[in-house]
Amino acid sequence: KLHGKTALVTGSTSGIGLAIARALAGDGASVMINGFGEAAEIEGIRAELEQLSGAGALYDGADLGDASAIEAMAERCRNELGAPDILVNNAGIQFVSPVADFPPEKWEAILRVNLTAVFHTTRLTLPAMREKNWGRIINTASAHSLVASPNKSAYVAAKHGVAGFTKTVALEAAKDGVTVNCISPGYVWTTLVENQIPDTMKARGLTREQVMNDVLLAAQPTKRFVTVDEVASLALYLCSDGAASITGANLSMDGGWTAA
Ligand code: NAD
Repeated sequence: KLHGKTALVTGSTSGIGLAIARALAGDGASVMINGFGEAAEIEGIRAELEQLSGAGALYDGADLGDASAIEAMAERCRNELGAPDILVNNAGIQFVSPVADFPPEKWEAILRVNLTAVFHTTRLTLPAMREKNWGRIINTASAHSLVASPNKSAYVAAKHGVAGFTKTVALEAAKDGVTVNCISPGYVWTTLVENQIPDTMKARGLTREQVMNDVLLAAQPTKRFVTVDEVASLALYLCSDGAASITGANLSMDGGWTAA
């Protein structure tokens, strides 16, 4: 049980991060959420998490592309909620283009949010975890931390970077009671994915089922989307004492994608 523990979950105003925040709060952790969105909706989420945990819940709108905003968020978490015992680096963005046409500013943005932010949050929260001799760092990587797809150079480079960073910090923290792992989902059913379907149907003249099975799930042998709750249950397990020896691992949850 996570009573008395504090979790900082980046990119938790929707999708996978929100499901992880709910799972951690449901187990008693106080949670700081982060991400973009409509103020009233975010306040609704924050209040729900507070109810779920019976502990504190705060929102910080730091743009993870901005190192000083990340520093301010980490400090606010320490001061107003408690130094994070659990850090979930989940925020991520995507841009799809052939490499020769890839806009340099999109490359920079993806590397900043998907990789460099993970470095900043980690360096800012690891010392307090070490002091308590307990900590959990969980990074949402991707099947694209293990394999590539065309036209996703920045995303694939950043996610491979997250996998390497995860292993390095796991080794550095191995004797300190702090585990560091990444979860690598295949296609997860989020509104992000759902919203792509109508456009792809129109662009390619396909039915909804064809888009889902032949386009989105082409590489996923189960032919079923991973659910956000499945990812959240793995994150919650990694926070348990039973997972104390799992560190430096890249845990696939991809319906067999990277087995093929
Ligand atoms: P999502 O778009 O629903 O959630 C992304 C979250 O990150 C949102 O809360 C958003 O506001 C936040 N965010 C984006 N840019 C930010 C910034 N600059 N600063 C702060 N917050 C920012 O997407 P999701 O599908 O839940 O993705 C979450 C993570 O899972 C990402 O790292 C993504 O790469 C990874 N992932 C997703 C899938 C999938 O199929 N959906 C598969 C593998 C990995």
